[in-house]
Amino acid sequence: MTTKINPFENAMGQLEKALKYLKLEKWQIDRLRNPEKIISVNFPIKMDNGETKFFHGFRVQHNSARGPYKGGIRYHPQVDMDEVKALAFWMAIKCAVADIPMGGGKGGVEVDPKALSEKELERLSRAYARAIADDIGPYKDVPAPDVNTTPQIMKWMVDEYIKYKTNNKKQIAKKEKSILMGTFTGKPVDCGGSLGRTEATGRGGSFVLEALLAKMKLKGRCGKELTVAVQGFGNVGYYIAKFLHEMGMRIVALSDSKGAIVVKNMEKDGFNPDLVLKCKKEKGKLSSCYCVGSVCDLKYGRTMSNEELLELPVDILVPSALENQITGENAGRIKAKIIHEMANGPTTPEADVILHKKGIPVVPDVLSNSGGVTVSCFEWEQNLKGQHWTEKAVNAKLKQKMVKAFEAIWETAKREKTDLRTAAFIVAIKRIMGKT
Ligand code: NAD
Repeated sequence: MTTKINPFENAMGQLEKALKYLKLEKWQIDRLRNPEKIISVNFPIKMDNGETKFFHGFRVQHNSARGPYKGGIRYHPQVDMDEVKALAFWMAIKCAVADIPMGGGKGGVEVDPKALSEKELERLSRAYARAIADDIGPYKDVPAPDVNTTPQIMKWMVDEYIKYKTNNKKQIAKKEKSILMGTFTGKPVDCGGSLGRTEATGRGGSFVLEALLAKMKLKGRCGKELTVAVQGFGNVGYYIAKFLHEMGMRIVALSDSKGAIVVKNMEKDGFNPDLVLKCKKEKGKLSSCYCVGSVCDLKYGRTMSNEELLELPVDILVPSALENQITGENAGRIKAKIIHEMANGPTTPEADVILHKKGIPVVPDVLSNSGGVTVSCFEWEQNLKGQHWTEKAVNAKLKQKMVKAFEAIWETAKREKTDLRTAAFIVAIKRIMGKT
């Protein structure tokens, strides 16, 4: 949609705004603006047809003042350094917002994973893990999944990392292995992963939204449920839709990269995200999966573009796909009462200004989607301590963390008379500088 927007410039724009509220020295500002280390790697992969191809990847380690770098690895043909630098910076802010003992990092490989066979994907993931192995570790840098990377990919990576670190040793003491497993999070549960991690980003987002709605005393109009449009129907989009649906809200629109579906009767109907997902899996596409209650029927819905979804007259708009979706160009046409950012960087600084003027609160990504990294941190803690927490314990700890993070930001926004994003940055920067 708006590929020309540079995410790192956006991130720095957000930082500049928050800096006006803080008295920092120049070196401190420089420390916030610049990554501590940028690792660039090139590695060959044997393809199934016998050809060898060269791939490029990187890892940006932004800030480690509060603990080891933490952040996902993205596989995308257009992933570039500015995008990864922005994401690493946001991770540092996010970990501080969530008040977990970790810093910010992010990785990327320039690849279209859909064009690879499973074996090629495994070889690529193992090669990337080996290429960055000396720069990561349970006390140094802890990667995780991001767009197009999965628990299975983390399993390959952690296996390769442990082989590399132990010189292919066959027998490793249980404790040593568990600690080494803490180098990657978002692993499958049977391979050192945490219960509750898959759902954590969506679940955490639902806790934050619940806390915000209570503060705003916002309920459905005329006794009706609140309406929600969710852009993106991957891990984050599906789970946030599911949890908000379970909380009694009406999911009136959903989308993926091919387009959006919307209920025909916005006054009455709402999609059942579980049934929509089942239907999408069966049909291989989202369009015409108009599932309301326990029935999927063409009469319930219609398709529209992702751009149109963003402009629907809903109570809550939840961008859960990519960055730069709400921009200076379309922000003026947004009709939602609240924007709850579940994707990273979906709103540009120009859009923020317009939305603020229109009185539309934007719950910033660094708060609303921090449930994922929070449970990743729980996974890391369990690995380091050799423990396995129950899902109930994970979810209870998550709720406590998310509500506390929201309260700190809400209070700061009120005290400083600013928007929630700037408040989140103020809280995070103070915490990072407190450790510098
Ligand atoms: P995913 O790959 O599982 O899903 C992405 C979804 O977005 C898919 O439904 C895809 O079809 C859709 N999409 C792609 N291009 C689109 C477009 N142009 N318009 C509309 N939809 C489009 O990824 P995910 O894990 O759900 O991540 C989504 C966002 O949330 C990303 O910004 C990611 O960085 C962020 N995030 C993810 C997590 C996590 O735990 N997975 C945590 C924090 C933030």
